[in-house]
Parts: sequence; C-alpha cells; structure tokens
Amino acid sequence: MILLEKKQLQQQNEAFLNEMRKQDPHFFERLKVGQRPEMFILACSDSRVSPSVITQMPLGQLFIHRNIANQVNKTDESFTASLYYALKHLKVKDVLILGHTSCGGVKAAAEGNQEAELIPWLQSVRQSIEGVECTDLCENGSRQNVKTQMERLKKHPVYEQYGDGVGVLGAIFHVESGEFEWSN
Ligand SMILES: [Zn+2]
Repeated sequence: MILLEKKQLQQQNEAFLNEMRKQDPHFFERLKVGQRPEMFILACSDSRVSPSVITQMPLGQLFIHRNIANQVNKTDESFTASLYYALKHLKVKDVLILGHTSCGGVKAAAEGNQEAELIPWLQSVRQSIEGVECTDLCENGSRQNVKTQMERLKKHPVYEQYGDGVGVLGAIFHVESGEFEWSN
C-alpha cells in the first residue's frame, strides 16, 4: 500500500513537471529566485480543501498555514511564526481565513468531542462557534468560525504590530458543490 502511494506521488509529480515544462520552460528558473506571494491564507488541514487546488493558483502566489478548523490562536507558536513571516518579510497585502462546510473540527467542537489529544485545540474552536446550532454540513458553524478568526486576527499582537493596511478577508469553501462563499 505504501509502495503504491509512493509510486502514485512520483507519477503525479512527473505529470506535473511535464505539464509545467510545456506551459513555461523557464518557470522553475524563476521560482528558485524566491517567493513574492501577495496573500497569506489560513485554511483547515482537511484533505478536501487544499487552497492551491481549489483556486488553481500557481506556485509562488499563496503563503499558506493550515491547522484543524483554521484557528487563529496567539498561543500557537507555529501560526504566530507564519503570520509574522508573511507580514514582516513577505509583506502580503491580504490575509484570508478560509473555512469550509462539513468541517470535522467544527463538528467535533459542537458535539463535545472528549478525546484527550483533541480537547485543548477544540476548546478554541468551541469558543469560536458559541451559541450556533450545528446540523448536517454545519454551514452556520463554519461561517461563525471564520468570522471569529477574522476578529481574533485583528487582535493578534503580530497583526497589530505589522498588519497596518493589510486586509482581513474571510470565505468558506463548500465541499458539497466546490463553490467559494465570501464572508461579509
Ligand atoms: Zn475542517
């Protein structure tokens, strides 16, 4: 099984390389010079919502951090480092919080999951969706979750220090239809 997966990845990479060479023979020469993405995306780790895949954005355009249920948490060193690097060094113009329908993290928080390894993380998610009824795809929970993260981001010390003029956007990706829905 593992061998098959490795082989699949290898083959897919070769197909990608061939396609890129056909489209633009000098693409990788430019890529090695460095990255200048204009957008930082915080998305969920869910395998169905890869930001680069669902937006068809080329390599070098999106700086991405992912965690379960796309949480902004100022005690999370990994997120804080990504945010700092995006704002201070890459000088991105916008930060997009990208949630999605049928989010396992949002549902687990709403349902009161008690697995020890998940409890600390889900506590932050639970606080984000307080008072929201979660049914089926839990769209309302995902919408509320994105709005809460947008507010948390604006109050994050790194954003307060380095985010002057940087836009804070929110959206959810509908896994049931493939559509994007912007937050107000
Ligand atoms: Zn999710």
